[in-house]
Amino acid sequence: MISMPAKFDFHTHTLYSDGASTAAAMVEAAEARGLEAVAITDHGHESSVGVPQEKFAPMLQDIELAREDAGIPVLAGIEANVVDEWGRIDGEDESVRKLDILLAGIHRLGRARDPTELARDYLMRATNVIEHHKFDVFAHPFYFHQYLAHHLLPEDLEDFVRLAAGHEVAMEINIKYRTPDEEFLELCLREGVKLSIGTDAHTTGEVGRVDWALGVLRRIGAKREDLILDRFLR
Ligand SMILES: [Zn+2]
Ligand SMILES: [Zn+2]
Repeated sequence: MISMPAKFDFHTHTLYSDGASTAAAMVEAAEARGLEAVAITDHGHESSVGVPQEKFAPMLQDIELAREDAGIPVLAGIEANVVDEWGRIDGEDESVRKLDILLAGIHRLGRARDPTELARDYLMRATNVIEHHKFDVFAHPFYFHQYLAHHLLPEDLEDFVRLAAGHEVAMEINIKYRTPDEEFLELCLREGVKLSIGTDAHTTGEVGRVDWALGVLRRIGAKREDLILDRFLR
């Protein structure tokens, strides 16, 4: 019998950013799909679809209400944007301390150039955000309209993954973009970087549909202790 990797979803969006449902509906769907835990992670405020700062408190209240009705742990989070090449994120103010989990993702790069230049720019921002900011999960690693890791040197990826290990930043297996690849995830396992699972769901139909990630985890031989989940369950 093959052991079952844990089922959880730490990347979901609601009406507070560009999602189509409430936190309560997302949590209900997550529970119905048999997840052990779910995180609500709307976009940071500097994204055009992000949660405006004045909506932050009501958002947390809605997550709290969803949590009260839920039979599984519900984490309140944000998917912060890495907003410049120095790795600044829009999730660093007072309010962020009220969150259970902080994701950071790159949604913007410098001007469109060839994939190698894009990949170098991505790596610089990703390195800087890990070096200078405290957060839990790096969302959709090396995905920017395409998978960029193939355009980087293996030693650059190794340095990056070792940096993430040192800062206890988990790498996300993102189901929406089917990223990163198994080679990168195997490198994460070797270097002791924890893995997260995120559907990046924007609807109740998508939340908790983690089968693709579970297949990846099985193929790379990941165990439960390789996942970030237990850090958040107590
Ligand atoms: Zn994202
Ligand atoms: Zn997202």
